[in-house]
Parts: sequence; structure tokens; C-alpha cells
Amino acid sequence: MNLPAPAALAVIAALTGLSWVAAYYLGGGTNAAPHWFYIPVFLAGLRFGPVGALVTAVISTFVAGPLLPADVSTNTPQALSDWVSRGIFFVVIGQFVTALFGGVRRLSTREAHLTTEVELSTAELQAREARFSALVQNASDLVAIVDADATILFQSPSVERILGWDEERTLGTNLVDAIHDSDRQRWHSIVDFLTEDSGEMVVDWRVRHADGSWRHLQTVVTNLIHEPSVGGLVLNSRDVTDQKVLEDQLRHQAFHDTLTGLANRALFTEQLDQAMRRRGRIGGGVVLLFIDLDKFKTVNDLHGHALGDELLKQTADRLRAALRDADAIARLGGDEFGVLFEGVALDSYPRSAAERLVASFAEPFRIDSSEVFVTASIGMALDESGTESAEDLLRNADLAMYAAKAKNEGGYEVFASGMHSRILDRMQVEADLRRALTEDEFQVYYQPIVDHVSGTIGGVEALIRWNHPERGLVMPDQFIGIAEPSGIIVEIGDWMLRHACQEFVAFTKEVVGGDGLGLSVNLSARQLRDPTLFDTVCSAAAAAGLELERLTLEITESSIMEDTESAVRVLTQLRGIGVRIAIDDFGTGYSSLSLLNEIPVDTLKIDRAFVIDVATRPEPARLIRAILTLASDFGLHTVAEGVEELEQHLLLQALGCEASQGFYFARPQPAAQLLDLLKRDASITTG
Ligand code: C2E
Ligand code: MG
Ligand code: MG
Repeated sequence: MNLPAPAALAVIAALTGLSWVAAYYLGGGTNAAPHWFYIPVFLAGLRFGPVGALVTAVISTFVAGPLLPADVSTNTPQALSDWVSRGIFFVVIGQFVTALFGGVRRLSTREAHLTTEVELSTAELQAREARFSALVQNASDLVAIVDADATILFQSPSVERILGWDEERTLGTNLVDAIHDSDRQRWHSIVDFLTEDSGEMVVDWRVRHADGSWRHLQTVVTNLIHEPSVGGLVLNSRDVTDQKVLEDQLRHQAFHDTLTGLANRALFTEQLDQAMRRRGRIGGGVVLLFIDLDKFKTVNDLHGHALGDELLKQTADRLRAALRDADAIARLGGDEFGVLFEGVALDSYPRSAAERLVASFAEPFRIDSSEVFVTASIGMALDESGTESAEDLLRNADLAMYAAKAKNEGGYEVFASGMHSRILDRMQVEADLRRALTEDEFQVYYQPIVDHVSGTIGGVEALIRWNHPERGLVMPDQFIGIAEPSGIIVEIGDWMLRHACQEFVAFTKEVVGGDGLGLSVNLSARQLRDPTLFDTVCSAAAAAGLELERLTLEITESSIMEDTESAVRVLTQLRGIGVRIAIDDFGTGYSSLSLLNEIPVDTLKIDRAFVIDVATRPEPARLIRAILTLASDFGLHTVAEGVEELEQHLLLQALGCEASQGFYFARPQPAAQLLDLLKRDASITTG
């Protein structure tokens, strides 16, 4: 009944009127109206409550009252009182019914309300479930439910994509079977933890893909075993294999040398620390080796970095081949490698391994079409007392390597306690040498070379001296050997060339016939490998105004042998512009005679070792004769070194040696003294 109130009132009034009229006539003009005449009152009550019913009853009385027969005694319409009482009765009944219906109506409204609510919630639930299931079905993550024994109860279709598993067929199988051996324990711990102390945990593990590979999953495990709708552990897994691979790569990069694939210094230091912590527990000792390639810088300068890199790679391969898998090998930087032996018998293994390492450098490295000979100096430190610290070992191995380098290239040295001070001494000398260059502490001494035919001085050899502020005059034997491996020899040699040329030109100008004298300057092996040598020689001679034909460069056989290819190249170049080449200390080195064919040589300087007892023993004389024959075959000039006595001089002369140098004629001396000597010598010849 949705009529507006006034319209409803009008309807009720009309019905009331009509019903009374109908009641009057149907009832035969009496007030004995049937009870249904009260329907309007009832309807009004229903619609408007008690007030509505009352108003309707009053209206009914007024509309229908006059129609009722009058009561003579009260002069009121007959049975009006009856009417009123009956009206009141029906109002009450109407009210009761109204109240009853209203209650029912309210009840049914609430029920309807509830039903709607339930319907709504169900719809929402269904929507939610649909949403959830869509999420699970289409999730990129893998959602699975397993029971406490790891039997798979449910898994999302993404299992197909992530693990290549058949969703249906793997249902009911045990997840543990697919977990990597080393991760299984973790699964059990998680289950234990979660079943005791429910909540969720995140775990990283490897699970086998259908293709047999391992996928790294990151899984959030939630215990919903007691949740009836789930009844298991919910596993929400993300495939993190790519990140893991990248992470591993980055970690590898952080701890490995990209060129050789060996461990880097950071990892090696860590390995050493661990070995030091473990020692005693696993028995045996800890040994540290430092390996440094000799002349690597020169190889790099000469042949280029690509070849240098290849050499380092091949070195790493050789180290790996010479050592056990258990030995840690690292590239510590540049051409320096480190090796760590752990749990080895100190009296045998380290030395035999070091020998194997040295031997592994005996063969030349074949790179592209070139063959490169590179040796390595190895320093070894043993933790004999079991008490050394990692720092001690590192320092000792370094010192031993330094000692190996200083001794001769391509060998190994085991650290010994005296080494430290010896090396400190060497380091001191090195530092002093640098200072000597800047402070101008070097001086050139000159030793005459006497020509046998003319009997006069034909030239001089420049020999370096060091005027040390504390040690006084220091001879070259005491510092050339230190200057050579450190590389300072290049600068010293440079100084020597420039200085000797300058001084020599100056003092020979003061002597009659001085411009006919020659100057010999010694070159070290290191200088011979220096790519700027040619330019240095040219500019030193040019600056001094020395004709290149007057300059002889003395080199030893061994220094040529170190890098024959580049020695031949630079010597040929130098000889091409007129510079002469002499082989110094000839006969003591291990040069092959075929070298004389290759190397552009002018002079052989016969070593003092043959000259010493040439006058007393037949053997040296025989050797000298052989050298002289060889020289004449090759058309070479000969000079005997270290002639101290007249007898020696005469004998050498008789054997056919062309010139001599030695204390017998003159000791090496400063320019001023030599000038006097030259003047005297000139006066002898001219006089
Ligand atoms: P070296 O080139 O063979 O020079 C000859 C050495 O023999 C000189 O020693 C000289 O003093 C010495 N000597 C000469 N006559 C006699 C003698 O009759 N008896 C004895 N016992 N010795 C004699 P020094 O000056 O001590 O030089 C030693 C070596 O140092 C040189 O041998 C040379 O290899 C090297 N050296 C000297 N100066 C230089 C230099 O400027 N550069 C380079 N790289 N090496 C140099
Ligand atoms: Mg010499
Ligand atoms: Mg010599």
C-alpha cells in the first residue's frame, strides 16, 4: 500500500461511507450491520496505526450515525452506545491485528534484510574466491599447499612454467624428493619450527626442474595446518634463479680475477686467514708462496698488452697444472701470483711443489706465432712454528720472493730469518740509488785499453763509481746487481751514457790525437730491453758531439740471451748508425757460438778468468787461442781483460790478442787523472 496518506484517507472515508450505507440497507434499515462493516476501521488501523483507526471510527460514526434508527429514551440514534462500544472494541481488535501484522511485517522485513545480507555476503565471497582463484591460477608465483610430510595437496598451474612439472601428475607426490640434497635439512627445520611456533618463514632453496636443472626458489612458508579450509603449509614461491645466477656472478667477480679466473687478493687473504684459523685442527702446516714473473713488464712493453694478457692466462694454467686441486691459487695483481698449501708435510711437499713450479716455466710460452721465455721468481714462507700470523707469512713470502729475484731470475727461495735484514739493506741501497741520481753522487772512472800493435792507448772503458756520503767510494759490483732488478739501472745507464760521452769528448779534446780515441760504455741486460735505448744512445752522443764510430757498447753474453730477439733488433739498429758492439766477459757466459752470426759484433773482450793464470797454466792459454781463432774467423777485434802482469801482456800479445786492459797498464781513474795519463801517453808516442 504505497498510496500517499491523503489519497488513502479519501479511499478509507469513501469505503467507510459506502460500507455504512451498504450495511444499513443490507441490514434491513437496522444497525445490525454485519461485522465486516468494520473493515475500513481495520484497514485504517493497518495503514495509519491506532490514531488512523480511531479517526476512521469517528468518521464512520458521523457518516453512518444519522442512518441508524433513533433511540426514543435517550434521543440519540438507536443503539449508538452499542455502536460506540462495538466501534471501540473493533478499534482495539484492529489495533491488535495491526500490531500483529506490523510485527510480522517488521519480522519479515528483518528476515528479508538478513537474506539480502547473506546473499550479498555470499556474492562477495564468491567474487572474492573467484578473484583469489584467478590470482592463484594466473599468479607468476607458485602457490602450493603441502601437508606436514611435504605431500603436495595443491599447486597453482604456474608450477608448469616455473618447474616444468605436470600440475596434475605431481599432485600427491612428496616435495622433499625434489629439494636439493643440501637444502633438505632446511626444509625439515622449517617444518619443525612452524609446527611448534606457527607463523611464517622465508626460505631460499633449490628445487629440481623437470629438465633436471636446479631452480632457486624463494618461498614464504605459512603454517595453516589448523585452518580447516587449508589444512596444510602454504608455500608461496618465487623463482629467483636469475637473480641468484647474477648474484653468484657478481660474487665471483668480486672475488676472482676476470682475466685468469683465479681467486683475487681479497679471496686469497680470506683463504689464508681461514687456513691460519684451521691449522692444528687438520694437521700439517700452512705454506705461502709468492710468485712473480720476471721481465713481465718488458714483455708487455715489447709485445703489447694482448700478448701480456695471454701470457698471464697461460701462467695461470701452468700453475694449476703444477699444483693439486686443494692448493689455493690466486692472482694478487699484475704479474704476481699467490699459492697456499694447507695441511701439507712441511719437509717435503712445499719444496717439490716449488721445483715443479720453477720447472713449469722452462718451456717457452707459445702465443700466436711468438715464443716467449719468461721465468718466475718464487718466495716461500712456511709456518713451521705454527704460530706465525697471516701478516708474518705474507711479509716473509714477499721477502723470500724478493731474495729469489735478487739472486737470479727463475728460482725459488725459502724465507730465512737473516733474509729480512739483507733485504732491508738492499731496499736501503735502492732508496740510496735514487737519491744518488738526484744528488749527483755518481762519477765516471776511465780505464785505458792499450793497443798491442801501436803500444798506445786506443780507447777507454767508462766504469761507474758511487761516491756514497757515508760509505765512501762504492764499486759497481755492490750496486749494479741491486739497480738491475729494480729497474733503476735504466736511469743510471742513461746518466752514465750522457755523462761519459760529455766528459770523454771534453778531455780528449785536450790531448793531441785525442779525437782518435774510442769510448766503451757498459750496458746492462735491463737497458738492452729498454725500448728507448736507441734514442738514448743517439741523443747522448749527439749532445756530447761524439762521433758514433768512436762509441763502443759493451754487453755480456747472458744479457743478450735473456731476450735474444729484441737484443738483436736494437744492436743491429745501433750498429747500423755506426756504433760498435763488444761482447764483455766473453767465454764465461753460455752463449751459443751461433749467436755471433746473428748479433752484429765488433769486439770480443776475453774475460779476466782466462787471463789470470794464462802465464802459469796451459789450459787457459789453449782456450784463449781458441777464442782468438774464433774471433779471427768472424773478423772480430779482441781485447784481453784484467791484465795485471807484464808476462800476461806479453803472452797475450804473442797469442795474437790485439789489445789489453788491466791494472798492469792503468787502474780505472777519474777524468782528470786519465787526462794526465793520456797526455803522457801521447807524449810517449809523439815524443
Ligand atoms: P767490466 O765491464 O768487465 O769491467 C772491468 C772490470 O774489471 C772493472 O771493474 C775494472 O776495474 C776491473 N779490472 C780492470 N782491470 C783489472 C785487473 O787488472 N785486475 C782486476 N782484478 N780487475 C780489473 P769495476 O769497475 O769494478 O766494474 C765491475 C763491473 O761492473 C764491470 O765489469 C761492469 O760489468 C760493471 N759496470 C761498471 N760500470 C758499469 C756501468 O756504467 N754500467 C753497467 N751496466 N755496468 C757497469
Ligand atoms: Mg766492460
Ligand atoms: Mg769485463
